[in-house]
Amino acid sequence: MEILSINPANGKTIKKYSAHSDKQVDKKIQQTHTAWLNWRTSPREERSRLLNNIATVLTERKDELAKLMALEMGKPLAQGVAEIEKCAAVCEYYATNAAEHLKDQLIKTDALKSFVSFQPLGVVLAIMPWNFPFWQVFRFLAPALAAGNCGVLKHASNVPGCALAIQDIVKAAGFPQHVFQTLLVGSSKVDAIIANKHIQAVTLTGSTGAGIKVAQKAGSLLKKTVLELGGSDPYIILEDADLELAAETCVNSRLINGGQSCIAAKRFIVVKSVEKQFTKLFLQKMEAKKMGDPFEQGVDVGPQARIDLRDELHKQVRQAVKQGAKCILGGEIPKGVNAFYPPTILTKVTDSNIAFQEELFGPVAAIISAKDENDAIRLANKSVFGLGSAVFTKDKKRGELIATTLIEAGSCFVNSLVKSDPRLPFGGIKQSGYGRELGMFGIHEFVNIKTVFIA
Ligand code: NDP
Repeated sequence: MEILSINPANGKTIKKYSAHSDKQVDKKIQQTHTAWLNWRTSPREERSRLLNNIATVLTERKDELAKLMALEMGKPLAQGVAEIEKCAAVCEYYATNAAEHLKDQLIKTDALKSFVSFQPLGVVLAIMPWNFPFWQVFRFLAPALAAGNCGVLKHASNVPGCALAIQDIVKAAGFPQHVFQTLLVGSSKVDAIIANKHIQAVTLTGSTGAGIKVAQKAGSLLKKTVLELGGSDPYIILEDADLELAAETCVNSRLINGGQSCIAAKRFIVVKSVEKQFTKLFLQKMEAKKMGDPFEQGVDVGPQARIDLRDELHKQVRQAVKQGAKCILGGEIPKGVNAFYPPTILTKVTDSNIAFQEELFGPVAAIISAKDENDAIRLANKSVFGLGSAVFTKDKKRGELIATTLIEAGSCFVNSLVKSDPRLPFGGIKQSGYGRELGMFGIHEFVNIKTVFIA
């Protein structure tokens, strides 16, 4: 079987890769398991030194890696460079903090000594998406390696070049052979990989559908999973919001990565009294964004990652309009063999509209009217998803209360867009998945929280 890398800006095949055979996959997993038998007891300082080396390699290669992303999935170059810098930062974060996160926790009992020790699990399978082809992987890989685990990666089939580059980076950083390997396989091979006796746990970032399938298989074998799935993040704009800041932040969040981000703002829930003013500002700022060749300076929105994904998005937009939404910007497929989709705004979106109920994974904003604060919170929570969320108000106390206790989501930001940060846990509730990545909580997902009791 072949895995094709296709440039979404012009539909041309960049390169064909031969998929790994079942035999090759088994051999690689066995090699990584063997590597783990040594890696599990490697000194913490050594792990930190090597993670810092990864950060150095990433920094040295950031321009080349950004070009690879631009080619394989259409990310504008400047955004690609920023992604690689963030990957370096997460490696440095765990190089510095893993020892503290993993240090034994003494607990007084009737024992002479009792404590909790965080021990590695073994080989973790990472199933990753194409939208942040480096970041999604490094935010799993850095804490995994720091905790003494090893990893194998099944990356999305449209970014095989990025998948192999990551393997290469780990090698160039000086890690022992095979502690991390890329498996070039399609998703039909995943069940068998999960069933491999050396795979101890699975982490997946992607669609809810893929998450459910992987969780079912892993659950049937009692293998732990962490799932970071879709989102339809609500951004609430209250009547006392700084509307200029809100509109600017909302547009920037909606257009992160051409709108293809799980934590991009998707539903803009605006209190009626400021809806007209907010929509006007939002429209001006969306119109000002430049769509174009990801290799061109100053481009904000590149092509969508694949033509089929763009077509699916357009179908959702057409359905939304049929159901009563009004398209006030974009909504048309540009000519040519490419995956472009323009910044698009839908207004008059109600809670029964597809643009409210489903995730729109592209540069399409849904503006929803709320009567007041209570109604806005009700609408925000009326979703199967629960990943990120934000609220805009000049009253920080009011914002904090809403963020902390009233919004059902894995995170809620006040007067800011939702972003991941190596120091803060990241993840969702409801159909956005479970488990956490990043920070102390992230590194604790794939460890044996072992009780030691000495009488
Ligand atoms: P998928 O969820 O299908 O792909 C994500 C990863 O899961 C890929 O590595 C994919 O492999 C793998 N995968 C897919 N199906 C299975 C399965 N049944 N068993 C095991 N692994 C599987 O995303 P798509 O690329 O198809 O995008 C579809 C939608 O998913 C988007 O429109 C968006 O809504 C959502 N999505 C969410 C992301 C997020 O960050 N939360 C990221 C990407 C997509 P392969 O590529 O070989 O199919």
